[in-house]
Amino acid sequence: MNKKHTKMLNFDKNHVWHPYTSMSNPLPSFLVDSAEGVYIKLASGEKLVDGMSSWWSVLHGYNHPKLNDALIEQSKKMAHVMFGGLTHEPAINLCKNLIAISPKPLQKVFLSDSGSVSVEVAIKMSLQYWHSKGKSEKHKLLTVKNGYHGDTFAAMSVCDPVNGMHQIFEPVLMQNVFAPAPQGDFFETWNDKELVELEKLFVEHQHEVAAFIIEPIVQGAGGMRFYHPQYLQACREYCDKYNILFIADEIATGLGRTGKMFGCNWAEINPDIMCLGKTLTGGYMTLAATLCTDDVANTISDGEAGCFMHGPTFMANPLACAVANASLQILDTGEWQQQISFIESFLQAHLLPLNNHDRVNNARVLGGIGVVETIDTVDMEYIQKRFVELGVWIRPFGKLIYIMPPFISNRDELNLLVTAISTVLNEAPCFNGLSLEQ
Ligand SMILES: *Cc1c(COP(=O)(O)O)cnc(C)c1O
Repeated sequence: MNKKHTKMLNFDKNHVWHPYTSMSNPLPSFLVDSAEGVYIKLASGEKLVDGMSSWWSVLHGYNHPKLNDALIEQSKKMAHVMFGGLTHEPAINLCKNLIAISPKPLQKVFLSDSGSVSVEVAIKMSLQYWHSKGKSEKHKLLTVKNGYHGDTFAAMSVCDPVNGMHQIFEPVLMQNVFAPAPQGDFFETWNDKELVELEKLFVEHQHEVAAFIIEPIVQGAGGMRFYHPQYLQACREYCDKYNILFIADEIATGLGRTGKMFGCNWAEINPDIMCLGKTLTGGYMTLAATLCTDDVANTISDGEAGCFMHGPTFMANPLACAVANASLQILDTGEWQQQISFIESFLQAHLLPLNNHDRVNNARVLGGIGVVETIDTVDMEYIQKRFVELGVWIRPFGKLIYIMPPFISNRDELNLLVTAISTVLNEAPCFNGLSLEQ
């Protein structure tokens, strides 16, 4: 680390907010110089295998020639134009591509800037839908505990009430209805006992609920839980039966991560509204999409406002759309299926045996997601430093050490990730709780 780097990090520490860390006493940040393939190169010289895909967004690796080209070529034509009254080929192609891979009934696409905004858009669509039908009393959302849908206000109002610290924002937060988190494990025999309470909530609140929102199959930031496809099927049934729109938040699960193109595919259901984000540009830029059915779009458009009330400045940014198209083109080769099943079998072989480890509560794997839930909470600062020493970038939270490697990860790279996890599990200072010896 040279003097310039130290100065930069000092400024960063004193003036730059980082996500979910204190500004007065922040966790340290590592200065990145560049990234290539699955590697993140630190300014201090270390090369780390990325186990996080930069918050689950990188699919085909960093500094990818095809994605770079798409960006460069588009930048020579135009970096941006407004989307009001104007349109362009990158956006038209992107919407065409998204409709082609999405569940059939989803025919209309609203592009926006980030995952949270796409959730806001989905929620506003559902409220405007019922308003147009003369049922503005249907303005609440029904969801499940342990969910995560983003950090803006409406998105936050459907995040887990405890993890999302709802009490702080109580006076301005939408008051929504929460069902217990799905219990049936993805890998276990389905037992429909839990549906009794769920259906009761649909019955009780049908008159005031506009939409049900859920992350299909995998609850991500709210606990990395994999639940049973039959649960999702039941949710779809209840939405039909009780006149409630179904919003699938596929921001983390969409585009292959779980082993199917979308989480919804595991249950063979179609949502009325679907959110995509994170992976949409292969991890290059911020872009999100909210897809909906003809019925949702037409009902909104025939309503009082005559249009959908949303329009971000950078809607359908051509650079972002062009790089998204390049990423979807790579997905279209179908290679992702072999890549994910290779990652899945590797993680199954190397992480599932950790279920016998004294410090592990549960280890689980689905598609390109490996989770080791520990008994004690991790010591973030210490464990982060250890992972860097071990040559990997893994960022745990709470009791969750998890990886979602880029699709292109090979055996050696995956091996470095799982070895690092096994190593820290044997090191007491990585955890705040009692040490193994006690
Ligand atoms: C990350 C995430 C979001 C929020 O996306 P941002 O781009 O961070 O705003 C919403 N829903 C799910 C399921 C996510 O994983």
